[in-house]
Amino acid sequence: MSLEKILSAIENSKLQLNRQNDLVKVIAVSKVQPLSRIKKVLDKGHRIFGENRVQESLDKWPKLISEYGKVELHLVGALQSNKIKDAMKLFNVIHSIDREKLILKISNEAQKLGYCPDLFIQVNTGNEPQKAGVQLEEVTNILELAIFKHSLPVIGLMCLPPVKEVASKHFKILQETAFKNDLQRLSMGMSNDFEDAIKFGATDVRIGSAIFGKRV
Ligand SMILES: *Cc1c(COP(=O)(O)O)cnc(C)c1O
Repeated sequence: MSLEKILSAIENSKLQLNRQNDLVKVIAVSKVQPLSRIKKVLDKGHRIFGENRVQESLDKWPKLISEYGKVELHLVGALQSNKIKDAMKLFNVIHSIDREKLILKISNEAQKLGYCPDLFIQVNTGNEPQKAGVQLEEVTNILELAIFKHSLPVIGLMCLPPVKEVASKHFKILQETAFKNDLQRLSMGMSNDFEDAIKFGATDVRIGSAIFGKRV
């Protein structure tokens, strides 16, 4: 596929679902991709990108931004607490908030910086033992802490469905959990399943290999 094909597939899905006026952001996940491929997508005018590592992003995005101008950067991968400050300075949105400690540290840092990126709470919808993300039963507590106690800008929920399961089941769980908690944004859907994710209300799809080609 290509960026153009993905954008038109998304427009089609929205039309079929009567969601024409809804937001569906395409986050082009450029982790590990060579600069030449990223520049091609920038040359097409796309300005929303995702990365999964803070250090790798620091190595490439400040240079690209000075060359191309402002982009909207999303951190979609795990956030280590010693990288919080760097992440908050570079990224506009962080999708991987999955524990109390991160919330406390981000809150602390936000007071010093005077701003905070928009945040998604990552939910472990499959309750997988090794997987990042808050357990389903913990979502309301974590939101209480982040939004009410610390006034952080939590805009939605994010999930990474278990690879061996039908993704739709997890998209539905995330949609219901967001609805129950009054959250509007859903970060879900990747190259292979973004159309299914949109059926369940995805507002932020994270698409890597379908846009840039297989990661090398
Ligand atoms: C790499 C990555 C993606 C994109 O995956 P593709 O299958 O290449 O579209 C999406 N979300 C996260 C969290 C990722 O790490």
